[in-house]
Amino acid sequence: MSRKMLVDGEIGDETTHYDFDLFVIGAGSGGVRAARFSANHGAKVAVCELPFHPISSEDIGGVGGTCVIRGCVPKKILVYGASYGGDIEDARNFGWEINENVDYNWKKLLQKKTDEILRLNNIYKRLLANAGVKLYEGEGRLVGPNEVEVRQIDGTKISYTAKHILIATGSRAQKPSIPGHELAITSDEALSLEEFPKRAVVLGGGYIAVEFASIWRGMGGTVDLFFRKELPLRGFDDEMRALVARNLEGRGINLHPRTSLTQLIKTEDGIKVISDHGEELVADVVLFATGRIPNTKRLNLQAVGVELDHIGAIKVDEYSRTNIQSIWAVGDATNRINLTPVALMEATCFANTVFGGKPTKPDHSNVACAVFCIPPMSVVGLSEEEAVEQATGDVLVFTSSFNPMKNTISGRQEKTLMKIIVDEKTDKVLGASMCGPDAPEIIQGIAIALKCGATKAQFDSTVGIHPSAAEEFVTMRSATRRHPFNPKPQTNL
Ligand code: NDP
Repeated sequence: MSRKMLVDGEIGDETTHYDFDLFVIGAGSGGVRAARFSANHGAKVAVCELPFHPISSEDIGGVGGTCVIRGCVPKKILVYGASYGGDIEDARNFGWEINENVDYNWKKLLQKKTDEILRLNNIYKRLLANAGVKLYEGEGRLVGPNEVEVRQIDGTKISYTAKHILIATGSRAQKPSIPGHELAITSDEALSLEEFPKRAVVLGGGYIAVEFASIWRGMGGTVDLFFRKELPLRGFDDEMRALVARNLEGRGINLHPRTSLTQLIKTEDGIKVISDHGEELVADVVLFATGRIPNTKRLNLQAVGVELDHIGAIKVDEYSRTNIQSIWAVGDATNRINLTPVALMEATCFANTVFGGKPTKPDHSNVACAVFCIPPMSVVGLSEEEAVEQATGDVLVFTSSFNPMKNTISGRQEKTLMKIIVDEKTDKVLGASMCGPDAPEIIQGIAIALKCGATKAQFDSTVGIHPSAAEEFVTMRSATRRHPFNPKPQTNL
């Protein structure tokens, strides 16, 4: 192990010199943002990340991280690809004569997707270089409160010192240890399958499960979705969940609620899955979309004294600082809200706090999110169930369920649902949600209104854009139902 020459850091303290002002472990969304913005504030910054291999399905890193390499971006490309399936069906009633058999070329899209990911990977590397950030390709681990060891792919190890260390190592997929689980894939491999899975089984009812079920079904596959609850997407608004389930089924996905898998067996014809209800199915691919855990195991955190919670998430204060003064963490590794834009916010606040002279806490309120099933669902603020728990007055629920204009011609039987939750006492809009085409594009705008503390009266006084689905959000006049205020019993604590 060699030690690099120590140099003066611009923001070093008076007695100690470090190789860098900041060393970031992990060049995903949070790590790249923190490195660049800190460098822009004048800090001397390095980041380490494993090299990206475009063909390998192994989880081996890459500048850009999960979102760019094996998450949001490639997934959205596949969602675009899959959406044409429904669009082609819908086009017929708009006059398009589609006489030939419509077939799907999975390999073509896969190649396009890989090209795009490589392009983005290079852009991210360039962004780092342009900001003056030094990139080390290798796996980082802590060896002290101010020291990171980078193991390069050839096995050599080099240590670097830094005044501050930021951990931005994200999360990784986890699989339940069902017998035969090694036959199942996770979303990492699902994004790079060489052959299109004509028969797919998906286990899980979260974001990834419903998104991949939609993708493969949209491309013409047979999809069976197994989940433990009555409805998928636990934690979201129940009425929205029910509509998502109806839509998935309407698009031809076989739903298996209240069902789990007990065994996977390799057969000549594929992979046989057995459910806890005794069902048996054979599939080409079995996807376990059963949650992700913080990627903190190999960082040597405990040896350095960094506190973790029971699932291995790094405990941080409101400024993303760990219990060790020189060590900070952002993104999924801290398991706050595990979304790319949240990691970006946390990273920006970190850079402002540590190097920008402007201590800033990330604001985790009213973070909008979307599930890119087909059609998608998007929400911001409280669900109806959460509002009943948290409102200061009666809760008014405004809903609009309608057949989108496009469907009146295409003949597709699929409702769009929109919902606004209002605290009657303050007239404040506490939550908004939508399931239907373009929901994420629409809810992003509504999220700004909620961030500004918009009231229902302000929604009502906004003039709609006609004809659009979005205008329903400003034309819901009468409440669909009311939940009377239910004060919580006072405790003496
Ligand atoms: P989620 O946490 O969203 O969902 C996990 C699902 O797996 C739940 O339905 C859970 O069921 C089920 N599950 C867990 N353990 C088992 C088990 N042993 N047997 C059967 N089912 C099980 O995880 P995902 O993997 O879908 O996604 C991980 C995270 O990635 C998300 O939470 C989100 O933060 C992020 N993400 C965001 C996306 C977006 O913004 N569009 C897209 C994809 C991911 P139960 O409800 O019964 O516990």
